[in-house]
Formats: sequence, structure tokens, C-alpha cells
Amino acid sequence: MLNIALFGPPGAGKGTQAKKLAEKYNLTYISTGDILRKEIADKTPFGLQAKEVIEQGGLVCDETIVQIIENSINMNPDSNGILFDGFPRTYAQAYILDGLLIKMNTKLSCLISLEVPKDELIGRMMARASKENRADDKKEIIENRLHEYDTKTVQVIDYYKDQGKYYAIDGIGTVDEVFERVTDRIEEILSQTLLNVVFFGPPGAGKGTQAKRLAKKFNMVYISTGEMIRKEVAEQTELGKIAKPYLETGDIVPDDIAIRLIERKIAQHKNIKGFIFKGFPSTLVQAYILGGLLKKLDSSVSLVMNMNTSTLLSLKRLTARSKTPNARSYDMDAETIIHRLEVLQDRSCKILDFYEQQDKLVNFNGNDDPEKLHEQIADTIEKAFKEIRK
Ligand code: AMP
Repeated sequence: MLNIALFGPPGAGKGTQAKKLAEKYNLTYISTGDILRKEIADKTPFGLQAKEVIEQGGLVCDETIVQIIENSINMNPDSNGILFDGFPRTYAQAYILDGLLIKMNTKLSCLISLEVPKDELIGRMMARASKENRADDKKEIIENRLHEYDTKTVQVIDYYKDQGKYYAIDGIGTVDEVFERVTDRIEEILSQTLLNVVFFGPPGAGKGTQAKRLAKKFNMVYISTGEMIRKEVAEQTELGKIAKPYLETGDIVPDDIAIRLIERKIAQHKNIKGFIFKGFPSTLVQAYILGGLLKKLDSSVSLVMNMNTSTLLSLKRLTARSKTPNARSYDMDAETIIHRLEVLQDRSCKILDFYEQQDKLVNFNGNDDPEKLHEQIADTIEKAFKEIRK
């Protein structure tokens, strides 16, 4: 989802830009100012309560703001996200917005701040007064509103600066010029949204081969915990020494090790399109861990590609691998292979349920021809990229 808060002092042009943005990106538009003006016109209890504050150029209390927003978030199921205009307007409201979005299982993408000097703002609002007849567009009320902005609203900027979500836009120029600046920024932000894909399936399903090839194709970073652990063992690092006995028996290495390795790999990569994980998560606990690791990047698992492969095919492939230089210690005899398949099958169900409940699971027939499978998965990734970038 693309959730934007359009920010700026009164008269910066938020309303004008917001309407154009909502249309271009198909967003549900929420203007607290518009809602309040309607409540006043309709003489509702909220309106009666807010009237005087607004007419004096003050800020309506947070309690009222939360309630009017909750009443008016009628998300059109086809909309791509929400555009907030005039909210958050206090530091507390920034927290409130986070809470509201968490409740909707989403988050704010960015705060776009229209920056316009004070003299220009006053001129614009005085001009608007004659056109729109707004009760709060009078000289001394305008001064009050700007004072409220300087003392209470400006702090919102710090909240989003800390999260790297604050984007300042020069608000001087024609409507179209400012709109172009804003949309250029949004396109940039959209292009930075990560797509994170987990490849799932029994050993021998061909996850590694597919995942590596697709990571290359889509310019994503391939993260195979198994590969990283084998490297640590080969290089006899501290982590490698701890992991070695687990690796030899085909057991899961302690989560701490996988976490360290994934953290390291994630930290190395900036300006990328997303990650492809293979071999992690292999337990439900690790599925939670992965959620936490990606949350640090303000991201999450986007899709889980489940390669449903028959046990027979897994057995055939693993036995074949045991005869190559690529053989793993746990591929060597049928008994070990079967033990491993059994253990993994038990764990898989829980992980698959976890992602299915979040609507992230995509099933593929892992017995299909690898080339056909490659095309099907590539197609799914391509569509997912389009979805997050639209
Ligand atoms: P606007 O149309 O956004 O300029 O809002 C007009 C007036 O409505 C403001 O001066 C405030 O009195 C009130 N208002 C709008 N949004 C908020 C908000 N998020 N918090 C408090 N008061 C608000």
C-alpha cells in the first residue's frame, strides 16, 4: 500500500496537490480539515465542538480527530492506499497515525512536506479568503494558524526525519510544477520499496537453483543461510566452529547463528530491489525472526514461493547429488535423507499455515519442468513488483 501524509503550513497548497495525487495514484483521500468543515456545516456534535476552535485558528483535540478519521476511513477495496491531508498535525498525532495504520496492518510510506515561506503563505490565504469564504482565512486568524503550526505542528517533521520518511518539496511554483516535484519523489520512494521473497520446499525441490537464477534476473540479493553457514564452516570462523556439528548431521543450526549471518548480509546491501531467501525460515520460530529482521528495514516478507515436490523426486535428486562433488554430508545415505525429509515435513506445515494466513503463499508444482517453473515464478515476481510500484 502507498500511504502518504501531505504536510505543510496552512496555505502551502496541500489540498490542491492532494486531490491530484489521490487521483493519479488511486488513493483514498482523507482531509481532516474538509471533514471538520462538513461536520460544522451539518451541525453534528463533532462540528459544534470544533467550530469555535477552528474559527479561532486553533487545533481541534486529538480525541475528536481520531474519531472523525476512524469514521471516515471507508477504504475503497480497489484503492492503493490512503492520502492524509492535514493529519498528523501534532507530535502525538504522528504516534496516533502509526497506531491507526498498524490496526489496518499497514504503515506510512512517506511524509511529503510542502515548504513555502511565510509571506507567500499569508498572500495565498488572503487570496483564498475571497474565493472560498473560509471562516479561518482572516488576517489575525491566519496569524494564529501559523503560530499553531510553528509551535505544535512543526515537531511532526522530526518524528519522520528520525524514520527517514520525511521528504521536503519546494512548494513555490505553479500547481503543475509542484505536482511534478512531488510525483518525482513518490516514484523514487516507490522504486525503493523492497520485494522480499522466500523460496520454500523440501530438500531437492530445486529451490537454490531457481532462487539464484531469479535473484540475478530481478537484481535482488540472494540469501541462502545454508550456503553462508557452509562458508563459515569451511573458513573455520568462530560461527563456523559452532555450526559444524549441526551441519554434519543435517540438523538446524542454532537460530543465533543464522540471525548473525542474515543481519550481516542485509547490512551490506543498500539501494537494492529486495531479498530472496532460501533455507530460511525453516521453522515457525524462524518465520517470526525473519519478520523481525525485515522490520528493521521497515519491510516484511512479500511472498512465499512454495515448490510442492514429491518425496520421490526429492529422493532421486538428493541421491543423485550425493554422487557429485556438490554432495553434502547429509546426502550420503537414504536413511539420513529420509530422516531429514520427515523432520522438515513436520515443520513445513506450520510455516506454510503462517504465511497462508497472511495471504503471502503461492503454490507451484515442484515436479514441473524446471524451465516452466522458472517462467511461472518469474511471472509471479514480475507481477508483485508491478503491484508494489503502482
Ligand atoms: P485545514 O483545512 O487542514 O487547513 O484545517 C482547517 C482547520 O481544521 C485547522 O486550522 C484546525 O483548526 C482544524 N484541523 C484540521 N486538521 C486537524 C488536525 N489534524 N488536528 C487538529 N486540528 C485540525
